[in-house]
Amino acid sequence: MSATPVRRILAAATLLALLALSACTVGPAFHARQITAAPPSPAVPTSMPSAPPSPSAAPTTTRPAHGSLDWYLSQVPTFPEAPPPQPVPLTATGALPFWHRLPTEQKVAFITIDDGGLARPPAVAEFIWRAHIPVTMFLNSPAAEEHDVYFRQIQVAGGVVENHTISHTSLAGRSYDYQKQEICGAADRLETLFGKRATLFRPPFGEYDSTTLTAARDCGAKAVLHWSETVHEGKVRYQTPEKVVQPGDVLLMHFRPALMDDLLAALKAIHRAGLTPALLEDYIR
Ligand SMILES: [Zn+2]
Repeated sequence: MSATPVRRILAAATLLALLALSACTVGPAFHARQITAAPPSPAVPTSMPSAPPSPSAAPTTTRPAHGSLDWYLSQVPTFPEAPPPQPVPLTATGALPFWHRLPTEQKVAFITIDDGGLARPPAVAEFIWRAHIPVTMFLNSPAAEEHDVYFRQIQVAGGVVENHTISHTSLAGRSYDYQKQEICGAADRLETLFGKRATLFRPPFGEYDSTTLTAARDCGAKAVLHWSETVHEGKVRYQTPEKVVQPGDVLLMHFRPALMDDLLAALKAIHRAGLTPALLEDYIR
């Protein structure tokens, strides 16, 4: 939703290459021919003089099979256009901010996907690409390394990789050296794999202490993120009394088998709230 046409066309070429590569490494589930780099061609004007309609020209009424990628795409709501992002204020020194919800009044919410080791549904990259879903991935570096092609496909589709430690252990109460090793070690590895230094950090289980905020800053993070809603098996669970997505909310889901349903549920909840999905990194710079 934020990529320029030129960026999307360049990304499309890269995504096609990655999809071709993935066909050799993760099986035949991706179909590169479904990617459309150019905008759809304009519809044929109805006023055009034409021969009597032939059966082959009749509009098709075939509905996509439930659970297919085309079905998921058909279920994505139409959002109001995202406002031009106004990044939230950050301080250069002192403790890093720890946010459940971004301090913004803009009518946006943020989708985040965590971990990476458990399950990686194959249609996710193409869904994110074709539906223009902005996502931030908080990855554990060993999973990112083992499945780097998968996560690079999502990166090319517009997703951004951020830091979720190496070993996914709770950091609260641990020494500075331990926490720094977990955070910087993952940041270094992710930077090598994806060509970008993580600027956001999410501690495993959302558990942290003041040492975490110091170590995260020392490893290059600008903010530490919690969440305001979780999404699991297609259900949104609100952590706040409003029971509706608020401006600045951060929705958490995981790389689990139902990720396609979780993405769709998040999009529908954001749409119900009158908001538009936006990219965290456009707001935390
Ligand atoms: Zn996690």
